[in-house]
Amino acid sequence: MPASRLDAAALKGRLVDTHTHCGGVDLSNFYKKRYPYGQDILDLEGKREAAGVDYQVVFPMPTSIYYHIPSYWRRGAFVPSGYCDYPFQLENEHLFASISRFSLERMLPFAGFSLQAQVPQQERAVWDLAQRYPLYGLKYHTKVDQKNALAIERDSAFLDLARALGIPITVHTEEKGCSSAAALLELAARHPEVRFCAAHFGGFSQAVFDAMSRGGPKNLYLDTCPLLARCRFLARHGAGEGMLDLPYHAPRQVLEVYLEAFGTRLLWGTDAPWYNYGALEAPAEQPLISYADEAAAVEGPALRALFAANAQRYLFGNEVEER
Ligand SMILES: [Zn+2]
Repeated sequence: MPASRLDAAALKGRLVDTHTHCGGVDLSNFYKKRYPYGQDILDLEGKREAAGVDYQVVFPMPTSIYYHIPSYWRRGAFVPSGYCDYPFQLENEHLFASISRFSLERMLPFAGFSLQAQVPQQERAVWDLAQRYPLYGLKYHTKVDQKNALAIERDSAFLDLARALGIPITVHTEEKGCSSAAALLELAARHPEVRFCAAHFGGFSQAVFDAMSRGGPKNLYLDTCPLLARCRFLARHGAGEGMLDLPYHAPRQVLEVYLEAFGTRLLWGTDAPWYNYGALEAPAEQPLISYADEAAAVEGPALRALFAANAQRYLFGNEVEER
């Protein structure tokens, strides 16, 4: 019997940040001397309160310490580190236990998973988590795991688990490579009963944008995180092949293009703390972006009401009708 969760009505009209990370260290970034490399759960709670955001969906940091980080970076090998028995064992436990310990009722945790090792053990562990704590979804990081979204279907039973628990799956996406948003589009079309989110605007993929503009799979959402940081990066470095050519120097205009095309399928998120990213020895891009800056980028009652309704539908599915 899964632990009881908030019901859909609790989120009515509330602003939900649908993409944050906390409750641990990202050893991969720490090892590579990159920022950010961690976020404490109470720090994130403080940022939420100060910015006037009502709820936060929270994921573990992207890399699990199950893997030996030097082997990953030197040889691309997924080798056990000895810290724990299976991927995301400690990360999920820390996240869920901390939320419970500090009664952080505005945090809606998703469990992380990896498809590179001990998959059946992870499935049993996530099922067990759902019995002990409120569980709102699953998070998969394609780039860190070096597998595309279709591997969720091929290499695991996580789709069955999502279906059984009625929870969605958020997937890291980019335009190409193993993070291909097109692969997630295909997966979503094949499994209409599971809700998916293509994180980071679906990599600003033109093909995915076109498919979604034509209606796309109704169970696929895109998140807009981190709006300011992604737009700043693309304004400086340019969009790659296959990506939309948009006025990236003006994030609100970029958002408007997506809102116009398929506004009811967009989720607002910040990707906290991943909005000031880079090598420690390189100068940080100025001005620094804060959590409050990302929250302020979605000011306005109509926009906030739209994002609230979308998050409600993404998290709770059929309990809430599309407007
Ligand atoms: Zn993220």
